[in-house]
Amino acid sequence: MRILITGAAGFLGSHLCDRLLAEGHQVVGMDNFITGKPENLAHLANNQNFTFIRHDVSAYIFVPGKLDAVLHFASPASPNPASPFGYTNLPIQTMKAGALGTHNTLGVALANQARYLLASTSEIYGDPLEHPQREDYWGHVNPIGPRSVYDEAKRFAEALTMAYHRFHNVNTAIVRIFNTYGPRMHIDDGRVVPNFIHQALQGQPLTIYGDGKQTRSFCYVDDLIDGIVKLLLSKEHEPVNIGNDTETSMNEFAEIINRLTGNTAGVTYLPDRRGEGDPQRRQPDTARARAVLGWQPQVALEDGLQRTIAYFKQAGA
Ligand code: NAD
Ligand code: UDP
Repeated sequence: MRILITGAAGFLGSHLCDRLLAEGHQVVGMDNFITGKPENLAHLANNQNFTFIRHDVSAYIFVPGKLDAVLHFASPASPNPASPFGYTNLPIQTMKAGALGTHNTLGVALANQARYLLASTSEIYGDPLEHPQREDYWGHVNPIGPRSVYDEAKRFAEALTMAYHRFHNVNTAIVRIFNTYGPRMHIDDGRVVPNFIHQALQGQPLTIYGDGKQTRSFCYVDDLIDGIVKLLLSKEHEPVNIGNDTETSMNEFAEIINRLTGNTAGVTYLPDRRGEGDPQRRQPDTARARAVLGWQPQVALEDGLQRTIAYFKQAGA
């Protein structure tokens, strides 16, 4: 296949490029580097099957030649206002990537009669009142809070994707990605995994927001990419959660990072972000992914974290 991947210079996009190239496909990467890095793609510079287009997906997209698949991953993804890459600091760009970027990429898929895959998110469930989150849960989302620029853009993106499927018969798929971590995350991205690892490697206390009882379920990037490729090759149109179902509190998570890095500086508690919509519990129900894709996560949290810590050490964090 010849595949367009938007957000190609980001964490997930660059791993997708690698995986699809390794499977013998041709990949066209697109990015404007708003949160991603050219270094994430530097190793592909001489790959005959890879081409790169620097472009903002919010503007009309033209890709010469026939495409068989379009994967829309371009969007800021960190909720942390302390990071310059946080989507609350890029609110208009985030809404445009989710709304106009989804419209433009769906147009490319329609014109090419290509398979389309939207990178959606567990954030469409908001601060969920049902636990774990199943795909048929409609969510609990604040439409005007700080996180709304991301949550509502992704909800709009899902609705537009289903509209193109139902009205234009585009062969669409939607993956709802739960917290994924691994090499190539931006060290300053502000999400908890790079933040804690960076702090631990500097010998600093880990910053826990609130009482640390809030939970997340962390998926190693290789597992996520496996699930996405299976979804791409499937005939599924309904949303599928992909994530690891091992739920961990931020207090437990900080303890694991400090133990794996040998950091003795402990933790420090900062004001909680509940008022900004920080979800208190998050865990995917992955029954659909298991049933329709035959997918399940393989990498245990501590194994994935060891690999991620090794990457950040080598990157000089
Ligand atoms: P990332 O910030 O590393 O990558 C996003 C990439 O998109 C960056 O390279 C950025 O420069 C690019 N981009 C943003 N706006 C763009 C635009 N207008 N035009 C062109 N390129 C643009 O983040 P990530 O973690 O790799 O996330 C990738 C996708 O996966 C996002 O859509 C995100 O919402 C989704 N997602 C990620 C996670 C996760 O845990 N990593 C969870 C849920 C959803
Ligand atoms: N968090 C934290 N300290 C940090 C960064 C994040 O305690 O330095 C918490 C954050 O409040 C949230 C959880 O870790 O409850 C996961 O945050 P992240 O930014 O990774 O993404 P989210 O899952 O909220 O989108």
